[in-house]
Parts: sequence; structure tokens; C-alpha cells
Amino acid sequence: MKAYVIERDALIQNIQALRAFAGPVPIWGVLKGNGYGIGIVPFSRILFENGINHFAVTELREAEVLRENYPDVPILMMRSIADPAEINELLDLGVILTVGCYETAVAINGIAAERATVAEVHIAIDTGMGRYGFLPDDVDKLISVYEYMKNLTVGGMFTHFHSAFSNEKATKKQFEEFTALLEKLRAAGYETGMAHCCNSHAFIRHPEMHLDAVRIGSAFLGRLAFKEKLGLKKIGYAECTVEELRWIPKGQTVGYAAGFRARQQMRTAVIGIGSYNGFSMNRENDLFRFRDSLMGILHHVKNIFFPHKILVTVNGHKCRVLGHIGMVHAVVDVTDIECAVGDKVIVQVNPLSVKGLRVQYR
Ligand SMILES: *Cc1c(COP(=O)(O)O)cnc(C)c1O
Repeated sequence: MKAYVIERDALIQNIQALRAFAGPVPIWGVLKGNGYGIGIVPFSRILFENGINHFAVTELREAEVLRENYPDVPILMMRSIADPAEINELLDLGVILTVGCYETAVAINGIAAERATVAEVHIAIDTGMGRYGFLPDDVDKLISVYEYMKNLTVGGMFTHFHSAFSNEKATKKQFEEFTALLEKLRAAGYETGMAHCCNSHAFIRHPEMHLDAVRIGSAFLGRLAFKEKLGLKKIGYAECTVEELRWIPKGQTVGYAAGFRARQQMRTAVIGIGSYNGFSMNRENDLFRFRDSLMGILHHVKNIFFPHKILVTVNGHKCRVLGHIGMVHAVVDVTDIECAVGDKVIVQVNPLSVKGLRVQYR
């Protein structure tokens, strides 16, 4: 038995906590990357049943799957799509498209005109992410979209924060540029529609930035870079079983490159999970600041002198991984605990890294 487990009740509690914090502000449930690795269909179902009725995606396929399941929910394609065939398919699905530049606006407008329809779009503003979006100074170009694109209707306007997990000053600057632009457009008589900028981290840290809607992904899984977590629970772990138990003599090596050598006789368990499944030697490091790289290097150096222990939980006991983790198995020290072949092992794995495991909701 081998699975990636999502505790349904904990997920529902997270959704409720986030909804309570949002108050009347609608939450776009972000479901990119196969719903952050936990399955777009079951994840979206739980979101929907718990009051999240706006979805945001980055792939045509995701929009298709959601539309099959939810005939009426608004679906926002957060990427600016340029391919005419794809634009047509997204319009068939009734997806709200993102306009990230003037050329995309022209393309979508042309296709909408051919279809004799008006396409709802959200306009992306690039306040520092460097992808998708008009610059805050591109006011004239934006006004041209309003003036000349008669087959587009602007349902919203959004920007995306690059450092909401770490840099409040940068986030505030992005927010100010975004809201100043909204003001300019409104003052010139243009409707900006639903304005939104918060991802999970900004949503939690900056309630003053919620505006008309927020876009939440990782917070549903309780996976955040800082401590103000609204009581959110970290969701998702891998589960496997003890496949083999043995006593190894002093001097026995374990794993590739003989990365571990027993100093005395010890009892080991072979567990059926490895790097292919997302179980990694590297500490979870999904942030990319210079500071983080530096910390990563220091961590490596420290690790040479004081190897850090990678732990899994066998029958409720923390057990150390011995040697290098294999592609689909690992070996752990169970000398001091009671266990038998077939016993359950719990392993911390980031859902975004999970491969080859069935995702099970319990
Ligand atoms: C991924 C993404 C989000 C959600 O980010 P989280 O930090 O996971 O909440 C919001 N907006 C855009 C544009 C995104 O790409």
C-alpha cells in the first residue's frame, strides 16, 4: 500500500478559516498544477461544496475538466493566451480570458468578433512579476483596449505579487502601483471591474489589499512560508508500509555509494517510497531569494559536518533514514521500536513533488 493522503476534514477546516477571513470578498480557488498536486477533480469538488465558487487555472485542460464538472462557475484563465485555436476553445468553455498585452487584446477581440460575441476578459497588470501584463505606465495602451476593442468587456483587473511571502515593502509598492493605475482609469471614466491582487501570503498578511476578490491556492493546503497561519493545518503526507525487516551486522553498508555504514548491529526496515515519489534528501526549499540560496549553501556545509537526520514515522515513532534515499525505496533505523512487516509509515512529501502515488482523500 502506498498513497498520498489528504485529510478531508482538515482541508474543509482550512477552507472555512479562509472563507471566514475573506468575509464577503469572493475567493478564486486556484487549481493550477493539477490542483497543487492533489487532484483537480476531488480538490475542486471539496472547494465547491464548501462555498468556493470561482476557479482560476493556467491550462486549457484544467478549464475543460472544471467546466465538465461545474457548468456555471466562473473560470478564470490566469495566463494570457495567444494561440487562436486555444482562445476559441476557451471561449467555447465560457472561460474568462486574461489580456496581458495589446496584441492579445487584438487577437481575442478579433476572434470574439468572428463569433459575433463579446468576450469577458480580465486585464493583467505587471507590477514586478515580469510576465503577463501591461506596465502601470501603459495607460494609453489600456485606454486603447477600452476604446477600440468593441468585442471585449473588461470584467476585472489584476496583478500578482512576487514576494508576498517575504517582503512587505515590495508588496506594498506593487499594491500602490496597481491601485494608482485603477484610480487613473476610473478617473478617466473606464470601468475596471473586479480588482484583485492577493495570493495566499498577501491575503493573510495584508487584509487591506483584499480589494474585490482574492486568488488562493497554497493556503488551502496550509503550506505557507510564515507563521501567521489563521490556524491552518498543513495538509498532505505520503503513506507506505514496511516491506522488509532485518538485522544488519556491524560494518554493513546501506544504499547507493554505501552512504551509510552500520557502527553496530542494528535493525532496519525497507520502506517503499523514494525520490521518484517526491521523498527528497533536500529540505523543502521552494523560495528563491538570494538569502535562501545562501542559507541553502550554509545548510549543505553544516550537513557535511553534522549530517541532519531525515525522519519518517513508523507506528508513531520517528525513525531515521539510513544512507541515500533510493528512487522508490528507503531504509530506516527501527532498532529501538516495535514494528512488523506491513506496518504503516508516514513520510512528509510536498504535494507538488508527488509522483507515482495514488492521492487518497480520507
Ligand atoms: C498561483 C497563483 C496564485 C495563487 O498563489 P498561492 O500563493 O498558491 O495562493 C494567484 N495568482 C496567480 C496569478 C497565480 O499564478
